[in-house]
Amino acid sequence: MDVTKIREDFPILEREVYGKPLIYLDNGATTQKPRAVVESIVDEYYSVNSNVHRGVHFLSQRATELHENSRESVRNFINAASSREIIFTRGTTKAINLLAFCMGEACMKEGDEVIISTMEHHSNIVPWQLLETRKGIRLKVIPMNDRGELLMDEYRNLITDRTRLVSVTHVSNVLGTINPVKEIINIAHQAGIPVLLDGAQAVPHLQVDVRDLDVDFYTFSAHKVYGPTGIGVLYGKEAWLDRLPPYQGGGEMIQKVTFEKTTFNELPYKFEAGTPDYIGTTAFAKAIDYITAIGMDKIAAHEHTLTEYATRRFKEIEGLRIYGEAPHKSSIISFLVAGIHHFDMGTLLDRLGIAVRTGHHCAQPLMQRLGIEGTVRASFGVYNTLQEIDALVAWIDRVRKMF
Ligand code: PLP
Repeated sequence: MDVTKIREDFPILEREVYGKPLIYLDNGATTQKPRAVVESIVDEYYSVNSNVHRGVHFLSQRATELHENSRESVRNFINAASSREIIFTRGTTKAINLLAFCMGEACMKEGDEVIISTMEHHSNIVPWQLLETRKGIRLKVIPMNDRGELLMDEYRNLITDRTRLVSVTHVSNVLGTINPVKEIINIAHQAGIPVLLDGAQAVPHLQVDVRDLDVDFYTFSAHKVYGPTGIGVLYGKEAWLDRLPPYQGGGEMIQKVTFEKTTFNELPYKFEAGTPDYIGTTAFAKAIDYITAIGMDKIAAHEHTLTEYATRRFKEIEGLRIYGEAPHKSSIISFLVAGIHHFDMGTLLDRLGIAVRTGHHCAQPLMQRLGIEGTVRASFGVYNTLQEIDALVAWIDRVRKMF
């Protein structure tokens, strides 16, 4: 994999901040976009733009074709059985809210239970809490050990005959832990319980195969996979999606409307009320083409090298503690240096051109479990280099000495 050449595809990486070359290590929050993605947005607005699905004219048909081809690209990317199983949403958050609402309506009543884990992003906690208020369901939480691994025996014990769904993150956005999702799914399925995986931090780094996982629902966001903002995916097994009622009402999602009665469209449109972001879906397909051409296995291997190297170098820094030391980890490293507040570290690194994230990373319950307020988080992507990690390590050490 030629990282120098890859970097040329990302114009933003050439810029400076505060007169220093940008070192972008905030890929967990969002990734930068290659030229092919940005150009796709401009090209489609300039040469194809027209609303999809309802038009007989040339532009509308062409825009529809691009939009539906993108659905097929996503299907192929995660190896879903049918493009009917690919629901376009605004992002992971919207996808989980959609599912929480629809599952709540169709399959949950007072006293039913949903299992999540200690390491969830707020977007896989709060939608279920809203359901607690609306439907009187109960939330149960899989605990973890100090390395940041879920306690599987405790998980088994949480399952009861009232469990209606297990909803956990594939990869933790704070700890980097890659959860044993196949085992989690197997255990749930043995009890006849469906599983939702939040794949926001997995899809950019791992080859995800929803059929091999046998997962019932899977969500992710395009903007974390080198695609545009405003697009996400809810994958669902067709049999499940067929059982669920629509989420929102409006255009696209109907078959026939009268004032007396409305019938709903087939999958996936039943869940896609209103004009979709068809420009965004085309750009997302370009991002998928881009990373597929490089090869997910090569991306994973490169990021693994970066993470191993950074972990080793971080351990040389006096007083630095890494949060998340599971053996099976993705390219995220959260850390604190003794006596230095994470905001101070982040702010000083920023002045040196290094973009890292600081704070609770939308995982406040996890912070409470760790007994801290927040961390500094470096997260690596396809275009990061060992030299950038050397710079990060040197600057963290310099900040440490300043304190
Ligand atoms: N889940 C995880 C694990 C995340 O890391 C994020 C974003 O950081 C989300 C969900 C929410 O994604 P989005 O803001 O794109 O909806």
